[in-house]
Amino acid sequence: MADTLAFSVVDLADSRPPYPCSLCSVKPASFQYHIDSDEPTFQQLSGSCCLGCANNLLSSFEELRRARSGESTSHDADAVAN
Ligand SMILES: [Zn+2]
Repeated sequence: MADTLAFSVVDLADSRPPYPCSLCSVKPASFQYHIDSDEPTFQQLSGSCCLGCANNLLSSFEELRRARSGESTSHDADAVAN
């Protein structure tokens, strides 16, 4: 089982203009993220995001990973929407 979530810091010294966050479209992106999985149906996800969205992404990823690994919490496994 190899679900991976990787972040890299956007190089601020780069001459390109700052990316907008691809998740909230509000703040400038501070990170680039890349999510991959062994799951055949899983499509790789990558983009740029701000600090707040990176935090949300990390939480969601942890939840998903726990759910996948069968570490069920107290409540029944909810279908993961979107
Ligand atoms: Zn954002």
